Amino acid sequence: MSVLVLLEQRGVLKPSALEAATAAAAIAQASGLELNAVYIGQSLADQASELAGFGIKSVYAYEHSDLGHYSNDAYVPIVRDLVEELGATVIIGSASALGKELCASVAARLGVELVQDAIACRWENGLHATKPVYAGKVVSEVAVNDSPAMVSLRPNVTAVARNGEDAPEILQREMPSVSLRTVLKEAAEAATGTVDLTEAKIVVSAGRGVGGPEHLPVVEALATAMGAAFGASRAVVDAGWIHHSHQVGQTGKVVSPDVYVACGISGAIQHQAGMRTSRVIVAINKDPQANIFKICDYGIVGDLFEICPLLTEAVKLAKG
Ligand SMILES: Cc1cc2nc3c(=O)[nH]c(=O)nc-3n(C[C@H](O)[C@H](O)[C@H](O)COP(=O)(O)OP(=O)(O)OC[C@H]3O[C@@H](n4cnc5c(N)ncnc54)[C@H](O)[C@@H]3O)c2cc1C
Repeated sequence: MSVLVLLEQRGVLKPSALEAATAAAAIAQASGLELNAVYIGQSLADQASELAGFGIKSVYAYEHSDLGHYSNDAYVPIVRDLVEELGATVIIGSASALGKELCASVAARLGVELVQDAIACRWENGLHATKPVYAGKVVSEVAVNDSPAMVSLRPNVTAVARNGEDAPEILQREMPSVSLRTVLKEAAEAATGTVDLTEAKIVVSAGRGVGGPEHLPVVEALATAMGAAFGASRAVVDAGWIHHSHQVGQTGKVVSPDVYVACGISGAIQHQAGMRTSRVIVAINKDPQANIFKICDYGIVGDLFEICPLLTEAVKLAKG
């Protein structure tokens, strides 16, 4: 009986891996279960120190050049076999794009249920998870009765917390011989600016209020000044002003940044589904009745063409 945390990497350990480790540590502590981790990638060596302080006993490290990029063929059997070998009773993963696929595939192979994209989990005589449903209109509390109990955590909703400096032992594992039906040769970054939308700490999004693609740079300049990822509402995407990879919402990406700035976005429920768990929401809209003002922390009633440049200058000034 133990807790297993799935450490996601993309060359380096992703912040969501440390968030999952934080959540798993809390569950291990509350349940009294041992905590282990699995790393699948090319090289953990330089980053192993980042895994200190979570109370992880052992990290099972599968390192191989073929494992650098996510491969369903390779990753899923590794995790499934390790779960069975360790007798893991709780599995915590990340609800990033790849993490969701990995967790779903592992759950299917193990024949257990998965609480996907939870925003919190805790131990109370068993694993419990908090999960938004119906486009975020309802937050459900789920008791996970399957064993192993499995949850994937939305990135950015858990503050990374370490307790002490104890480093886990790193146990090197051979890559199992699996026939890889596909091999990813190269991954090119999508054109969503320099920051990945789903894991960004700050997201600045443009809505139909910008009026046309020629005006997007007004909002983009604010995003660049803030070091933010650039998002958009579906109206902007459907109009063909920007690529779908920028879309935030029910049928786009789900983001939970520290700060979300909505510029010229009305705040439809489907948009909220992708951003309402953001820590601080700032809205700029010229309509004081806009729905976005019902969920924002800071609302600016005004023309985005006046407000965005002012904010951009203020941010640049503050950053020196
Ligand atoms: C099944 C389904 C799935 C969907 N999925 C998504 C999704 O994933 N993401 C998503 O975003 N939507 C989604 N939608 C669409 C959603 O319902 C809304 O239509 C959409 O979010 C509206 O985008 P918007 O806020 O940019 O545009 P609008 O609703 O048109 O709002 C524009 C806002 O800009 C303001 N404005 C105008 N000019 C200015 C100015 N100069 N300065 C400041 N403010 C200004 C207006 O007051 C208005 O509030 C979905 C809909 C359905 C049915």
